[in-house]
Amino acid sequence: MQPIERVLSEVDRAADEIVEFTADLVRIPTVNPPGEEYDACAHFLGDYLERHAFAVEYIAAEGRAEHTPRHPRVNVVGSRRGGAGPVVHLNGHIDVVPPGDGWTVDPFGGLVRDGKIFGRGVCDMKAGIAASVFAAEAIARAGVTLPGTLEISGTVDEESGGFAGVAYLATAGRIKAGRTDFVIIPEPLNVDRICIGHRGVYWFEVTARGRIGHGSMPFLGISAIDGMGRLLESVRDILMPALAARRTAVPVVPPGARNATINTNGIVGGQPVDGIQTPCVADLCRAVFDRRFLIEEGFDAARQEIADLVARVAGEAGGVRFDVRDLMVVHPTRTPDDSPVIASLDRSIRSVLGRPPELIASPGTYDHKHVARIAGVPHCVAYGPGELEQAHQPDEYCRIDDLVNATKVLALATLDLMGGGRLD
Ligand SMILES: [Zn+2]
Repeated sequence: MQPIERVLSEVDRAADEIVEFTADLVRIPTVNPPGEEYDACAHFLGDYLERHAFAVEYIAAEGRAEHTPRHPRVNVVGSRRGGAGPVVHLNGHIDVVPPGDGWTVDPFGGLVRDGKIFGRGVCDMKAGIAASVFAAEAIARAGVTLPGTLEISGTVDEESGGFAGVAYLATAGRIKAGRTDFVIIPEPLNVDRICIGHRGVYWFEVTARGRIGHGSMPFLGISAIDGMGRLLESVRDILMPALAARRTAVPVVPPGARNATINTNGIVGGQPVDGIQTPCVADLCRAVFDRRFLIEEGFDAARQEIADLVARVAGEAGGVRFDVRDLMVVHPTRTPDDSPVIASLDRSIRSVLGRPPELIASPGTYDHKHVARIAGVPHCVAYGPGELEQAHQPDEYCRIDDLVNATKVLALATLDLMGGGRLD
């Protein structure tokens, strides 16, 4: 048998082990917030890697406020050296969102039934972590020497921004250009799709300030709520149609997310509605907005457009004053079209599934941003088992055949990247 065939048959032979490893990960309830059981999960992964010829490091997010004795932020990185070829880094986040309501199975039971593994975080993204581990293991069991270095990391807090996780590793230089050549993040984007990036995010808070007055004579005050109402009208009547007319060339899915969008996250103004009421004109109203911008728009233009809109409304709002405060900015990312990481995954998916992959971009963001922006590694994509629509749902599951196929694809792509495209 050729080396590639040996690797693929080792993945098939390990199928039960891959399922069991995934179910074991699911049984560690790494719920974020607040960040439960990270240390246990990092060590479960690290112990396995250490038993399988990886050098393992634990990197706690020292200095970050969310790294506390009660909820330590512990990341794990395993590294297995082969030849002098490139460094391929497979990164998965170990945190999962809270289970929420509506489950008919134990969210942390690791149930296997009807060709599926069930549990919170199984598709997003513990199956992806298992696929990474067994891609490496199948290569080793097939007796194939790695042409380069393979790294596998389990990182924290992706669901809450990744600042103590991938961003921390990138800031510490553990993932960085010159040290790390290629990064694959096995997020659940379907077994035949390669995710090349995401739109940008701009969260901002608008504060409207009026003047308090007696509620029986509202004409003697200035209502901040009325002012905010005018702004919301302008967002709906002027900004939203403009955004809906802008479409990115990046293949964002679902199709509705190919436009620029804005959402109002929350609003509060005037007196607390649950408290004792007094007759007062509201002198304060605050709202938080979530603007998703396109790589073609850029952050500066998106931000300026908001500032212009707010200034225009202020001019018509009868003395209400507005302030805009930036809360969070995530720039859009896009893997270069000619990146070897896309080409290798393309070849590997064709080889394993017998069909060409679809290139997509994510409607939200994920740790890709930190790899591209902080680590400066352009050759990063997301590819992994599990259906995107399953993420964060009750009765979340991952199909076992997808998990096995994604493990094969990751194994082939790793060898292909390290060997400079020799799968052809
Ligand atoms: Zn995820």
